[in-house]
Amino acid sequence: MVITILTLFPRIFDSPLNESIIKRAKEKGLVTFNIKNIRDFAKDPHKTCDDTPYGGGPGMVMKIEPLYNAIEHVKKDIGDGHFILLSPQGRLLNWEVCERLAKLSHICLICGRYEGIDERILEFVDEEISIGDYILSGGEIAALVVIDTIVRLLPGALGNENSKSQETFREFLLEYPQYTRPENFLGFKVPQVLLSGNHEQIRRWRRKESIRKTILRRPDLISRFCPNEEDSRFIREIMEEIQD
Ligand code: SAM
Repeated sequence: MVITILTLFPRIFDSPLNESIIKRAKEKGLVTFNIKNIRDFAKDPHKTCDDTPYGGGPGMVMKIEPLYNAIEHVKKDIGDGHFILLSPQGRLLNWEVCERLAKLSHICLICGRYEGIDERILEFVDEEISIGDYILSGGEIAALVVIDTIVRLLPGALGNENSKSQETFREFLLEYPQYTRPENFLGFKVPQVLLSGNHEQIRRWRRKESIRKTILRRPDLISRFCPNEEDSRFIREIMEEIQD
């Protein structure tokens, strides 16, 4: 997969793209990053990328020409791709969006700054993505969130591919509780079943706890969950336990 990033602040990406899972994915050839400074595509001598808003108002707006030039350059250089504008006004990033993006061969993430970007940018992008209902100073951190979530979905990116299969949001469930040594910390003990070595009991306990957590914390998710017969029994038991 090729991930192009269009930004006014390329150095923000130096460290996050050179550590841990993303670094290893790069080394394995699973992902290539192509980071372009939008300023390099401004044609005037001052490399101007922002200007005051038409109609007045606070702050500066990113100009359309450098961005358009950058997008055209990327299309010629790498070929067409999926162009994404990071924006608080976009559709909210979730697990399903990440899965969809991870299947594409080239995505281009466009990072805004200042008061935002000239609205005509929407003519040249495929979608707008928001990482949450809050305002960041720029799209770079949002782009890193998108990158982190999709790189770990690329086959071969994680040391253990099984770790993806039960993660939170799969099947619209939160993941079961995890524990590691010590067995007893200040009197807080690891659930006995996890020490039993009985794989079937552990599987059942994890499944039920995963359902319990989701019922208690994320009723919006549980309403999309499709329980099998065993899950339905767990749900009945959990509801009885909650009422007791
Ligand atoms: N004035 C804009 C508004 O009210 O919608 C906010 C502009 S924000 C300060 C500057 C840039 O940060 C945006 O163009 C966008 O690229 C990025 N950004 C801010 N919040 C974001 C979010 N929640 N998700 C994705 N990108 C975001």
